[in-house]
Amino acid sequence: MKKQDMSRRSFMKFGAAGMVAVPLAGLGWTTTAAAAERLDENSAEAKALSYVHDATTSEHDSYQEGQQCINCLLYTDPSQTEWGGCAVFPGKLVNANGWCTAYVARG
Ligand code: SF4
Repeated sequence: MKKQDMSRRSFMKFGAAGMVAVPLAGLGWTTTAAAAERLDENSAEAKALSYVHDATTSEHDSYQEGQQCINCLLYTDPSQTEWGGCAVFPGKLVNANGWCTAYVARG
């Protein structure tokens, strides 16, 4: 085998591996970033819905005792008892004890 053939083969082999690795790396970054970021209570999006990390501190007229993210229909995974996803705040984690004006009682 000529040296030139070897380098072409090596290039094709690693080039193909690189094309597979880039999308996977991108996916990993997106997933990790989405899972790690907690919603900032003071952000504009949180304030727009009067979100608080601790529901009992809410002074909003709509808040009713016992309402918490963990028993809200929009909390994506009730098995997450500390921080979890919310359909209203995609890519962010909300506190299981939190609350916002979009609260919908779970069944
Ligand atoms: S929609 Fe429900 S789960 Fe999401 S922040 Fe508001 S109360 Fe919490």
